Amino acid sequence: MARKPRRTSRSRAREEALAAAGAVRVPERCDVCVVGGGASGLAAAVAAAEAGASVVVLERSPACGRTILATGNGRCNFSNAHLSWERYNDPAFVEAVCGPNFGEDVLAFFGDCGLAWAEEEGGRLYPLSRQAASVREVLLARARRCGATLAPAREVTGATREDTGWRVAYEGVRAGNVAARSVVLALGGGEALLRSLGLSCDPFEPVLCALACEAPDGVSLSELDGRRAHAVARLLREGDEVARETGEVLFRGYGLSGIAIFDLSRHARSGDVVSLDLTCGVSEAAACRLAATAGSCAGLLDPVIAATLKDSLEAACDLRFVVTGPAEPERAQVTRGGLATDQFDPATLAARELGGLFACGEALDVDGACGGFNLAWAWKSGLVAGRAAAASSPLN
Ligand SMILES: Cc1cc2nc3c(=O)[nH]c(=O)nc-3n(C[C@H](O)[C@H](O)[C@H](O)COP(=O)(O)OP(=O)(O)OC[C@H]3O[C@@H](n4cnc5c(N)ncnc54)[C@H](O)[C@@H]3O)c2cc1C
Repeated sequence: MARKPRRTSRSRAREEALAAAGAVRVPERCDVCVVGGGASGLAAAVAAAEAGASVVVLERSPACGRTILATGNGRCNFSNAHLSWERYNDPAFVEAVCGPNFGEDVLAFFGDCGLAWAEEEGGRLYPLSRQAASVREVLLARARRCGATLAPAREVTGATREDTGWRVAYEGVRAGNVAARSVVLALGGGEALLRSLGLSCDPFEPVLCALACEAPDGVSLSELDGRRAHAVARLLREGDEVARETGEVLFRGYGLSGIAIFDLSRHARSGDVVSLDLTCGVSEAAACRLAATAGSCAGLLDPVIAATLKDSLEAACDLRFVVTGPAEPERAQVTRGGLATDQFDPATLAARELGGLFACGEALDVDGACGGFNLAWAWKSGLVAGRAAAASSPLN
């Protein structure tokens, strides 16, 4: 007798999630329809529902909040104790949206969700449990408590204007449409859908990722693969410094990775140069003295790196790599590009030309540094858009 194929626990969990999603009844109309049940969408849903609106969240994947689980290596670096506008690509817009109490507002929101947290190096904030699932659970619980309908396994395929609002069409475990007074776009990417609404949207490109690079003559990246160094990393374009980061650099066979490189990647283009100073924090005179005393650079650098650089202090102070593009773009933490921010009123995140339409999170052309800045933007922009969407009047 032929054996039935065994179901893995992952496929069983997916089937259960789809069955639960199929059982959710999506109302025919609501005040606020949130497109995307990720980080910013859940914050928007909570804000809108707590302001008294009836809310539906349409989410493409089989469960809401899944994107949160992968963040911070499963630990979710959900904000930063030192949020500052300068760490974003569009400081003026982020400041106008988030206001002077940006960090406090994010923490107050999570305090009200019942989350405990802890601070690590660089002001990075993590849930006390160090489990991204804690962040997701408290958010989902709050969204349900305030009456939002969470409808996963439903991909939004289009939205059209009607006399009193929007009609949002979706496909998936059940196809249908919902009439909403306001729509909040919280879908992360999705250029085609965003453009179909008549909005200007720059192509999404991966950033906060490793960089594929050509190594300087005589340096073999395969010999360095896996070695780490603390470095000052400068990004040079035609000789001018475009950006500078200090932190960990990880050498890979294809180029450079590590937090300092992730942060530089937000500004990098093919043809730029990354210059590494591996002796950061040590003066030139002291470095020369130490190298002379040790007879090599092994007391200053990882000995494997020192040997690869043939103990050249000159190379260690200005090791130059030419960027050829993003590496492993599928593992990028954020995208640059998205909805042009000048189309939105920063006080409400309402589209200036399309009544009843709001956007938040990564769908907007906002990206920030590593360290909790991107999730902080997702939460805060979601709260602003959700509150404003709940307060917006019907179109006429
Ligand atoms: C591996 C990884 C690690 C990260 N770690 C951190 C970190 O530690 N700290 C930090 O600050 N940032 C981190 N980030 C970045 C952070 O996760 C994002 O900036 C943030 O999730 C953006 O929120 P969002 O709501 O805009 O988009 P998302 O959280 O991506 O949510 C968008 C949601 O919309 C859904 N969707 C898309 N299209 C449709 C559609 N047509 N219909 C219905 N639903 C749709 C998606 O399935 C998704 O659930 C990380 C990112 C990655 C990929």
